[in-house]
Amino acid sequence: MARRKIIAGNWKMNMTPSQAVALCDTLKDLVVTDEADVVYCVPAIDIIPVVEAVKGTNVEVGAENLYFEDKGAYTGEISAEMLVDAGVKYVIIGHSERRDYFKECDCLLNKKVKQALKAGLIPILCCGESLEQREMGVTMDWIRLQIKSDLTGVTADQVKGMVIAYEPIWAIGTGKTATTEQAQEVCKGIRDCIAEIYDTDTAQAVRIQYGGSVNAGNAAELFAQPDIDGGLVGGASLKADFGKIVNYK
Ligand code: PEP
Repeated sequence: MARRKIIAGNWKMNMTPSQAVALCDTLKDLVVTDEADVVYCVPAIDIIPVVEAVKGTNVEVGAENLYFEDKGAYTGEISAEMLVDAGVKYVIIGHSERRDYFKECDCLLNKKVKQALKAGLIPILCCGESLEQREMGVTMDWIRLQIKSDLTGVTADQVKGMVIAYEPIWAIGTGKTATTEQAQEVCKGIRDCIAEIYDTDTAQAVRIQYGGSVNAGNAAELFAQPDIDGGLVGGASLKADFGKIVNYK
């Protein structure tokens, strides 16, 4: 069974609510496609205006983070239930910026993945190695550890509906893309890891994105790889170029 591509923008900490609505307007006609799921993962404050702005289009909305508790005294945090009620369908979990700057560990991320799934959100679970790890030859060991830890206690059926984003840290926001061969090799390694933990059906169903300086010029070659089911796009998702990435063929 062919997996449907999924191309998601990660807006990070960019776009005020009014800028967000204007960007949705600019991209509206450019991101129309029948061939892929298109998602804007936006800052929390932009969620409600963006959900409104993309109503009636093919675009779905994602959050960039959530907290793992249901509700309560967690000042500044946002629950899965709040996201669902606001119209969010996807949530990025474990982006390297959150792992690095906010010290989010795999134990915390595992709780977040389970909480998202419990609420009916689709996690976009990020993993990826640093340049040092790549140079030491431990890329796949590291990523397997991340995947295994972050998916502890998650069922095969849940994993089938999830998205995993392979994002080499050295390629994020640097303009330095992994080669097509490097990206395919690791995405296949992640699929093999899922087959080992679960089974072949689960491995064939889960969608695996590549992320790291994806742009209009390299998307077609990356997304044509057998184990790359689309992309998680940072910088280029804030420009009209995102339309070219979505319609990469
Ligand atoms: C990202 O933020 O997930 C990302 C891949 O960023 P960029 O496309 O800018 O490298």
